Amino acid sequence: MELLKERIRKEGLVLENRILKVDSFLNQQIDPVLMMELGEEFARRFANEGVQRIFTIEASGIAIALPTALRMGVPLVFARKIRSTTMNDQVYATQVHSYTRNLTSDVIVSKRFLPPGERVLIIDDFLANGEAALGLAELVRQAGSKVVGIGIAIEKSFQPGAAKIKNAGYRLESLARIADFKSGQVRFVGEEPSPDVSI
Ligand code: 5GP
Repeated sequence: MELLKERIRKEGLVLENRILKVDSFLNQQIDPVLMMELGEEFARRFANEGVQRIFTIEASGIAIALPTALRMGVPLVFARKIRSTTMNDQVYATQVHSYTRNLTSDVIVSKRFLPPGERVLIIDDFLANGEAALGLAELVRQAGSKVVGIGIAIEKSFQPGAAKIKNAGYRLESLARIADFKSGQVRFVGEEPSPDVSI
């Protein structure tokens, strides 16, 4: 999606050649107009999947999942990340390792908001190792519902998440796919590598 790629080129900051900071439009300040466009695009791509519920994870996934749910006319549910808890039988729970924070959290959702027998679309902001998306898919499995697709705003294609999701048999749609970071620059999938400047 060119609009998103343009914003990443203009405002994205590459940290340690592995993390993309987009806090001016997605991860802290949020551009609502851009979020609506992302929601429209996901709604268009998954229009034929009979989606009954959108499922994401706090916090940044919510900003993208909300306009998607609005456009598709279905409810939105987000899973919570918690450090530790006494689990009770009112929640589905799994564990997810955070790539950016390097810690493992319990991820939970109330059973009330993930009923069985539904067609669920998972939405998230980034895809790196696939932990968050596959953790959400595991909660949908526990609920006895079906994941009909996984929609990601920014996929870092040089990390294993995309392959893991496809190998698990899920349909993956990513709006911007990053081939690599080099010297602080973002190169998207399909773009030529910039020539090395040698003296
Ligand atoms: P994964 O679970 O696929 O390893 O990583 C995805 C999650 O980690 C996303 O929910 C996102 O919060 C965070 N994440 C992974 N890579 C990046 C990145 O490059 N930039 C930002 N801002 N978040 C990331």
